[in-house]
Amino acid sequence: MKPEQIEAMHLLGKKGADFGELWDTYFESAFFIHGHVCGGMPLGFRAGLAALNALGSERELNMAKLVFVETGTGHAAGCFADGTQMATGCTFGKGLIQRTEYGKWAMTLVDKDSHKAVRVSVRPEVMQSSFNSPFVKMRKEGTKPTEVPLEISKGLVKNLLQKSDDELFVISDIFNYDLPKAPKPTFELVTCHQCGEVVAANKARVKNGELICFPCSGY
Ligand SMILES: [Zn+2]
Ligand SMILES: [Zn+2]
Repeated sequence: MKPEQIEAMHLLGKKGADFGELWDTYFESAFFIHGHVCGGMPLGFRAGLAALNALGSERELNMAKLVFVETGTGHAAGCFADGTQMATGCTFGKGLIQRTEYGKWAMTLVDKDSHKAVRVSVRPEVMQSSFNSPFVKMRKEGTKPTEVPLEISKGLVKNLLQKSDDELFVISDIFNYDLPKAPKPTFELVTCHQCGEVVAANKARVKNGELICFPCSGY
Protein backbone atom coordinates (compact mmCIF):
# COMPACT_ATOMS: atom_id res chain seq x y z
CA MET A 1 0.00 0.00 0.00
CA LYS A 2 1.36 3.42 -0.94
CA PRO A 3 2.25 5.72 2.00
CA GLU A 4 -0.05 8.45 0.68
CA GLN A 5 -2.98 5.99 0.64
CA ILE A 6 -2.24 5.01 4.26
CA GLU A 7 -2.07 8.68 5.26
CA ALA A 8 -5.35 9.45 3.50
CA MET A 9 -7.13 6.55 5.24
CA HIS A 10 -5.85 7.67 8.68
CA LEU A 11 -7.00 11.24 8.12
CA LEU A 12 -10.38 10.37 6.62
CA GLY A 13 -10.93 7.75 9.32
CA LYS A 14 -10.47 10.40 12.04
CA LYS A 15 -13.53 12.21 10.68
CA GLY A 16 -15.58 9.27 11.98
CA ALA A 17 -15.18 10.81 15.46
CA ASP A 18 -18.12 13.06 14.53
CA PHE A 19 -20.36 9.95 14.65
CA GLY A 20 -19.54 9.24 18.31
CA GLU A 21 -17.07 7.46 20.55
CA LEU A 22 -14.98 4.79 18.80
CA TRP A 23 -16.45 5.62 15.40
CA ASP A 24 -13.15 7.07 14.16
CA THR A 25 -11.61 3.64 14.81
CA TYR A 26 -14.42 1.83 13.02
CA PHE A 27 -14.34 4.25 10.08
CA GLU A 28 -10.57 4.06 9.72
CA SER A 29 -10.73 0.25 9.97
CA ALA A 30 -13.38 0.28 7.25
CA PHE A 31 -11.00 2.06 4.85
CA PHE A 32 -8.16 -0.34 5.59
CA ILE A 33 -10.30 -3.46 5.29
CA HIS A 34 -11.91 -2.14 2.12
CA GLY A 35 -8.48 -1.38 0.64
CA HIS A 36 -8.91 1.89 -1.22
CA VAL A 37 -10.44 5.35 -0.88
CA CYS A 38 -13.72 5.58 -2.77
CA GLY A 39 -17.22 7.00 -2.36
CA GLY A 40 -19.20 3.75 -2.23
CA MET A 41 -17.77 2.39 1.02
CA PRO A 42 -18.32 5.60 3.04
CA LEU A 43 -21.84 5.90 1.64
CA GLY A 44 -22.64 2.35 2.80
CA PHE A 45 -21.03 3.15 6.15
CA ARG A 46 -23.20 6.24 6.61
CA ALA A 47 -26.30 4.23 5.58
CA GLY A 48 -25.52 1.57 8.19
CA LEU A 49 -25.00 4.21 10.84
CA ALA A 50 -28.26 5.94 9.90
CA ALA A 51 -30.07 2.60 10.20
CA LEU A 52 -28.59 1.95 13.65
CA ASN A 53 -29.61 5.45 14.78
CA ALA A 54 -33.13 5.01 13.40
CA LEU A 55 -33.56 1.79 15.40
CA GLY A 56 -31.84 3.31 18.44
CA SER A 57 -29.38 0.39 18.34
CA GLU A 58 -25.70 -0.07 18.94
CA ARG A 59 -23.24 -1.52 16.44
CA GLU A 60 -23.75 -5.30 16.56
CA LEU A 61 -21.10 -7.11 18.58
CA ASN A 62 -22.87 -10.45 18.81
CA MET A 63 -25.55 -12.00 16.60
CA ALA A 64 -28.69 -9.99 17.32
CA LYS A 65 -29.13 -8.15 14.02
CA LEU A 66 -29.31 -8.93 10.32
CA VAL A 67 -28.68 -6.78 7.25
CA PHE A 68 -30.04 -7.17 3.73
CA VAL A 69 -27.95 -5.12 1.34
CA GLU A 70 -29.38 -4.62 -2.13
CA THR A 71 -26.28 -3.67 -4.12
CA GLY A 72 -25.54 -7.00 -5.77
CA THR A 73 -22.38 -7.34 -7.88
CA GLY A 74 -21.07 -6.35 -11.30
CA HIS A 75 -21.27 -2.56 -11.16
CA ALA A 76 -19.27 0.46 -10.07
CA ALA A 77 -20.44 0.84 -6.50
CA GLY A 78 -20.68 -2.58 -4.85
CA CYS A 79 -18.24 -1.09 -2.31
CA PHE A 80 -21.34 0.20 -0.48
CA ALA A 81 -21.84 -3.26 1.07
CA ASP A 82 -18.42 -3.21 2.76
CA GLY A 83 -19.25 0.09 4.45
CA THR A 84 -22.62 -1.20 5.61
CA GLN A 85 -20.99 -4.32 7.00
CA MET A 86 -18.38 -2.35 8.95
CA ALA A 87 -20.79 0.23 10.37
CA THR A 88 -23.48 -2.20 11.48
CA GLY A 89 -21.13 -4.95 12.70
CA CYS A 90 -23.36 -7.36 10.75
CA THR A 91 -20.46 -9.17 9.15
CA PHE A 92 -20.11 -11.93 6.62
CA GLY A 93 -18.31 -14.19 9.10
CA LYS A 94 -21.09 -13.90 11.66
CA GLY A 95 -23.59 -14.71 8.93
CA LEU A 96 -25.43 -11.45 9.57
CA ILE A 97 -25.38 -9.91 6.09
CA GLN A 98 -27.17 -11.08 2.97
CA ARG A 99 -26.79 -9.54 -0.47
CA THR A 100 -29.64 -9.31 -2.90
CA GLU A 101 -28.92 -8.76 -6.60
CA TYR A 102 -31.15 -5.72 -7.07
CA GLY A 103 -28.31 -3.35 -8.05
CA LYS A 104 -29.72 -0.72 -5.68
CA TRP A 105 -28.00 1.37 -3.05
CA ALA A 106 -30.14 0.44 -0.13
CA MET A 107 -29.95 -1.68 2.99
CA THR A 108 -32.39 -2.98 5.57
CA LEU A 109 -31.35 -3.50 9.16
CA VAL A 110 -33.38 -5.97 11.23
CA ASP A 111 -33.14 -6.21 15.01
CA LYS A 112 -33.76 -9.87 15.82
CA ASP A 113 -34.76 -9.17 19.44
CA SER A 114 -37.24 -6.34 18.94
CA HIS A 115 -38.39 -7.59 15.48
CA LYS A 116 -38.09 -4.02 14.24
CA ALA A 117 -36.48 -3.04 10.96
CA VAL A 118 -35.63 0.02 8.90
CA ARG A 119 -34.68 0.45 5.24
CA VAL A 120 -32.20 3.15 4.24
CA SER A 121 -31.80 3.98 0.56
CA VAL A 122 -29.51 6.50 -1.09
CA ARG A 123 -31.38 9.40 -2.70
CA PRO A 124 -31.44 9.12 -6.51
CA GLU A 125 -29.78 12.51 -6.97
CA VAL A 126 -26.88 11.44 -4.72
CA MET A 127 -26.33 8.32 -6.83
CA GLN A 128 -26.61 10.33 -10.07
CA SER A 129 -24.00 12.84 -8.94
CA SER A 130 -21.72 10.04 -7.64
CA PHE A 131 -21.89 8.27 -11.00
CA ASN A 132 -21.09 11.56 -12.75
CA SER A 133 -18.09 12.21 -10.48
CA PRO A 134 -14.53 12.28 -11.86
CA PHE A 135 -13.85 9.18 -9.72
CA VAL A 136 -16.43 7.04 -11.51
CA LYS A 137 -15.44 8.52 -14.89
CA MET A 138 -11.85 7.39 -14.33
CA ARG A 139 -13.04 3.98 -13.13
CA LYS A 140 -15.15 3.67 -16.28
CA GLU A 141 -12.05 4.37 -18.37
CA GLY A 142 -10.29 1.49 -16.63
CA THR A 143 -8.33 3.22 -13.85
CA LYS A 144 -8.03 1.05 -10.73
CA PRO A 145 -9.47 2.62 -7.54
CA THR A 146 -6.01 2.91 -5.97
CA GLU A 147 -4.70 4.66 -9.11
CA VAL A 148 -7.31 7.43 -9.05
CA PRO A 149 -5.52 10.57 -7.77
CA LEU A 150 -6.21 11.00 -4.06
CA GLU A 151 -7.40 14.59 -4.51
CA ILE A 152 -10.30 13.11 -6.46
CA SER A 153 -11.15 10.18 -4.19
CA LYS A 154 -10.67 12.14 -0.96
CA GLY A 155 -12.82 14.94 -2.36
CA LEU A 156 -15.63 12.47 -2.98
CA VAL A 157 -15.48 11.20 0.61
CA LYS A 158 -15.27 14.68 2.16
CA ASN A 159 -18.24 15.80 0.09
CA LEU A 160 -20.31 12.84 1.35
CA LEU A 161 -19.27 13.45 4.95
CA GLN A 162 -20.47 17.06 4.82
CA LYS A 163 -23.98 16.01 3.92
CA SER A 164 -26.67 15.24 6.50
CA ASP A 165 -28.45 11.86 6.66
CA ASP A 166 -31.52 13.60 5.27
CA GLU A 167 -29.58 14.94 2.28
CA LEU A 168 -28.10 11.50 1.55
CA PHE A 169 -30.86 9.04 2.37
CA VAL A 170 -34.50 8.16 2.40
CA ILE A 171 -35.02 6.48 5.78
CA SER A 172 -38.18 4.41 6.04
CA ASP A 173 -40.52 4.31 8.99
CA ILE A 174 -39.70 1.56 11.46
CA PHE A 175 -41.60 -1.59 10.55
CA ASN A 176 -42.09 -5.06 12.02
CA TYR A 177 -39.95 -7.82 10.62
CA ASP A 178 -40.30 -11.41 11.79
CA LEU A 179 -37.40 -13.59 10.74
CA PRO A 180 -37.95 -17.32 10.38
CA LYS A 181 -36.64 -19.10 13.46
CA ALA A 182 -33.02 -20.10 12.80
CA PRO A 183 -31.74 -23.48 13.99
CA LYS A 184 -29.47 -23.27 17.04
CA PRO A 185 -25.75 -23.13 16.15
CA THR A 186 -23.79 -26.28 16.96
CA PHE A 187 -20.76 -26.37 19.21
CA GLU A 188 -19.92 -29.99 18.27
CA LEU A 189 -17.38 -31.36 15.80
CA VAL A 190 -17.36 -34.65 13.94
CA THR A 191 -14.59 -36.17 11.83
CA CYS A 192 -15.22 -37.00 8.19
CA HIS A 193 -14.78 -40.75 7.71
CA GLN A 194 -13.22 -40.21 4.28
CA CYS A 195 -10.88 -37.16 4.39
CA GLY A 196 -10.28 -36.99 8.14
CA GLU A 197 -11.08 -33.28 8.36
CA VAL A 198 -13.32 -32.00 11.12
CA VAL A 199 -16.78 -30.75 10.25
CA ALA A 200 -19.38 -28.79 12.19
CA ALA A 201 -21.73 -31.53 13.40
CA ASN A 202 -24.83 -30.03 11.82
CA LYS A 203 -23.14 -29.93 8.36
CA ALA A 204 -22.03 -33.57 8.21
CA ARG A 205 -23.79 -36.12 5.99
CA VAL A 206 -24.30 -39.82 6.54
CA LYS A 207 -23.16 -42.15 3.75
CA ASN A 208 -23.15 -45.93 4.12
CA GLY A 209 -23.67 -45.43 7.83
CA GLU A 210 -20.57 -43.22 8.20
CA LEU A 211 -20.36 -39.50 8.95
CA ILE A 212 -18.87 -37.70 5.98
CA CYS A 213 -18.27 -34.08 4.95
CA PHE A 214 -20.28 -32.44 2.18
CA PRO A 215 -17.49 -32.43 -0.50
CA CYS A 216 -16.64 -36.11 0.17
CA SER A 217 -20.31 -37.06 0.00
CA GLY A 218 -20.28 -36.49 -3.78
CA TYR A 219 -23.56 -34.59 -3.76
ZN1 LIG B 1 -14.44 0.99 -3.01
ZN1 LIG C 1 -14.40 -35.30 3.88
